[in-house]
Amino acid sequence: MNVLVLNCGSSSAKFAVIDPSTKAEHVSGIAQRLGSSEASLDWKVNGTKQSRPLPGAGHEAALRAVVGLLKDLGLADALLGVGHRVVHGGSKFSGSMALTPEVLAKVEECIPLGPLHNPPNLVGIRLATELLPGVPQVGVFDTAFHQTMPAVAFTYPVPFEWQDAYGVRRYGFHGTSHRFVARQALLVAGLPERDHAIVTAHLGNGCSCAAVRDGRSLDTTMGLTPLEGVMMGTRSGSVDPAIIGHVAAALDQPERKVLDALNKQSGLLGVSGLSNDMRTVEEAAANGHPRAKLAFDIFCYVLAKAIAGLVVPLGRLDALVFTGGIGENSTAVRAAVVGRLAFLGLALDPALNAAQVRGRSGPITRAGATPQAVVVPTNEELMIAMDTAEIAGRA
Ligand code: ADP
Repeated sequence: MNVLVLNCGSSSAKFAVIDPSTKAEHVSGIAQRLGSSEASLDWKVNGTKQSRPLPGAGHEAALRAVVGLLKDLGLADALLGVGHRVVHGGSKFSGSMALTPEVLAKVEECIPLGPLHNPPNLVGIRLATELLPGVPQVGVFDTAFHQTMPAVAFTYPVPFEWQDAYGVRRYGFHGTSHRFVARQALLVAGLPERDHAIVTAHLGNGCSCAAVRDGRSLDTTMGLTPLEGVMMGTRSGSVDPAIIGHVAAALDQPERKVLDALNKQSGLLGVSGLSNDMRTVEEAAANGHPRAKLAFDIFCYVLAKAIAGLVVPLGRLDALVFTGGIGENSTAVRAAVVGRLAFLGLALDPALNAAQVRGRSGPITRAGATPQAVVVPTNEELMIAMDTAEIAGRA
C-alpha cells in the first residue's frame, strides 16, 4: 500500500509516493518556482527524470498537476494516506497525528511560531483533502520529536512569563530526520534499543544536532526558530542577540532587516563571501581562499563545540551520527569535527571516512573504538510515509 508524502513550502511542493512496507519510492518530484512564469513540475520515475512547465501555476494548479501525474502513473487509487510535513507544531504535538478538524485548528494556532512555513503547509493539507477525497491526511511535525526535552533544556533564561504569553521556549526542528537516523544508527553501530546515548548531526542547508537517549530527544541546537544553534549555509546560528540592535542602529534600518541578514546572508555565505554551498566553500578553501577556509573552520569548530555540549544531557557518548547533504558527503567536515572531538575517544579511520559517501551508511571510526562515529543517510519522506501508514492503518 502506498502513501503520498507532501511537503508544501512557500514557492514549492515536494512529493513522493512511497510503499512504507517495502521502502520502494514509486515516484518523487517537486513543483517549484510556484507563482512565477517559470513554474515547473519535475519528477523522477524508475531513475528517469522528466519535467513539464506549469507557467503561472500556484499551489492549487501545481497539486492538481501532481494528482494528475499520479493518476497517469496508476498511483492515485488505493492510497493508504497522505503524509504532510508540518514545520511548527509548537508544544501541541509530541507525535504524528491524523489531521482532524480539531488538529488542523491547533496547527493554525501555531502560525505565529512558524509564520513562513505553517501557512503553505496548511494550503497543502487543504488542497490534498479536496483533491483526494476520502484519503486519510496525517501531519508529521518537525518539532514533535523534541517534545521529550526536559524543562532545563527547553526553557530560555528570560522573563518566565514569556513562555506562556508568547510561546518563547526551545522547540527544535529536523525532528523527523533526527528520529529516523537515530533509529537507523542503532543497526549501523550495533547499539541496544533500550540503552543508548547518541548525538545526531543533521547537516544540510539548515543544520542542527540533537542528543538522543534511548530513542528520546533530550536537547537540540535549534530553538524557538531554526535560526539558533550551529552555523549553517546562510543562517548564522547562535550569535549575541545584541548584534541585531547594534547593526540596526549603525545602518539606521529596522531590526527585522538585520534579522533577515542573520537568516539569509550569514553562515557559510556570510563568512566566505562566496556561497552557501559547502562544496563551493571546500573547493575555494582548498585553493587558498582565506575567507572560505575561515568559513569552513568556523563551521567545524562550532559544530564540534555543540556536539561536545550535547554529551552533557546524555551523560556519555556511544555514537555520533552524521547525516544531511554535508554529513553524508563531506569527508573533510567529518574529519575535522571528529578530529576536534578526539578527547571524547573518537578516532577516525580515514579509509572508512572516504568510503561512506553518496548514500552509503557505515562507521567512519576505527573498528572496536568507542564512541563510534557513523554516517546514516536521512530519509524524511520514508519516515513520514511510515508514520502515515501506521496512523491511517489505525483509523
Ligand atoms: P537540504 O537541507 O536543502 O535538504 P541537503 O541535505 O541536500 O540540503 O544538503 C545540502 C548541502 O550539502 C550543501 O551545502 C551541499 O554543498 C552539501 N553537499 C552535498 N554534497 C557534498 C559533497 N560531496 N561535499 C561537501 N558538501 C556537499
